[in-house]
Amino acid sequence: MNQPLQQPVLVAGGGIGGLAAALACARAGLPVQLFERSAAFEEVGAGIQLGPNVTRLLQGWGLQTGLAEVSAYPENLVIRSADTGAELGRLRLGAQARARYGAPYATVHRADLQALLLQAVKGEAGVALGLGRAITGFEQGADRVILHHANGHQTPGALLVGADGLWSRVRQQLLGDGTPRLTGQQAYRALLPHADLPAALRCQDVVVWLGAGLHVVQYPVRSGDWLNVAALVEDRAQHQNPGDRSGWDHAALGADLQQLLKGAAPPLQALVQAMGGWRLWHLQVRHTVGRASQMAQGRVALLGDAAHPMLPYLAQGAGMAIEDAQALGQALATAGATPAALAQYAQARWQRNARVQKRSLRNAWVFHASGPTRWGRDLAMRALGERLLDVPWLYGGP
Ligand SMILES: Cc1cc2nc3c(=O)[nH]c(=O)nc-3n(C[C@H](O)[C@H](O)[C@H](O)COP(=O)(O)OP(=O)(O)OC[C@H]3O[C@@H](n4cnc5c(N)ncnc54)[C@H](O)[C@@H]3O)c2cc1C
Repeated sequence: MNQPLQQPVLVAGGGIGGLAAALACARAGLPVQLFERSAAFEEVGAGIQLGPNVTRLLQGWGLQTGLAEVSAYPENLVIRSADTGAELGRLRLGAQARARYGAPYATVHRADLQALLLQAVKGEAGVALGLGRAITGFEQGADRVILHHANGHQTPGALLVGADGLWSRVRQQLLGDGTPRLTGQQAYRALLPHADLPAALRCQDVVVWLGAGLHVVQYPVRSGDWLNVAALVEDRAQHQNPGDRSGWDHAALGADLQQLLKGAAPPLQALVQAMGGWRLWHLQVRHTVGRASQMAQGRVALLGDAAHPMLPYLAQGAGMAIEDAQALGQALATAGATPAALAQYAQARWQRNARVQKRSLRNAWVFHASGPTRWGRDLAMRALGERLLDVPWLYGGP
């Protein structure tokens, strides 16, 4: 007798989290249907850092060769004072990260990471990808979930994974906890080929410049051929004039940033001046995950920024989405496409996500400190160096 056809796992959103989820579910042997509202799989033009906790999972999915073709593998993370340019601390990455954590510390263009995941997903027979398919909501029944699309269509599935980002429709319906909260912090970002930069500004390390109320981070992407720079600043005017803060991609004036960095160390000023085409993100967050039921209920789970948006001060938002996907795949492989699998997934993930969210928040305070706190931080960084900068509980996980 023929077995009844297995209902698919439905994935809402085709960002890094959604694609990683689709891959992990397919590798667990389940059919998958992914729906992305955009007409193409797109990522903003910016870099992303991937700790060894993340590259280890990508290796486990057999993506190490593809990753090596597009990544840079910086030798060091160097912390400098934004005011004087003096080195405050250094963490060796390169061979040390590989030896210590069994996987490299990589820096990569977001579009390259997304393309890598997309290629892997397309290599899976059981995955159907729907572009231009905005979802509007869902219904949960005892034995299935039905996804509603903006065009009026409905798709039944065994489970639904909401990987639809910070403004998640799935979250809105599942948790009903309102919109994300503005932080008053903005991220300027720019990318430039190294060849277009003066020789003195070319650099293959991750460098973090710490100033009062701001910090700047730079690192190579695209096999080291391009430099990615992000400047994170506290913007007190933002709450008075909120304007349109939705979406990830706003025009920015490099001159505004140069003004903010007037008086900074000359090499930092030169870097910001040399970069062009600045874009802006308005950073928004939600409360830290407080229990497993905030990540899954019945046949519906949340993943990535839909579940646990975080400030980028630990560079782990996409990393946690990829860890989520791995855990989801594991749970489905053992418990099948069932509510029990989603409960197992949520239980496995919520505390680690909450810890990373909290640490990212704390880092915002540490990175942007002024006065005696800043003085104490710099002293501790000089004295403790790698012991302070390494994060074994994070890089050694999940
Ligand atoms: C300045 C900055 C720097 C960062 N640096 C790092 C870093 O170095 N390392 C790191 O790991 N993380 C970093 N992050 C975090 C990282 O960018 C995010 O955590 C990650 O991109 C989240 O991926 P996601 O797939 O969950 O969500 P998203 O990337 O937001 O994807 C959601 C997808 O869902 C789609 N979608 C939305 N609504 C619908 C709908 N109704 N129907 C269908 N589709 C829908 C969207 O179009 C989108 O494609 C940084 C973030 C910022 C702001």
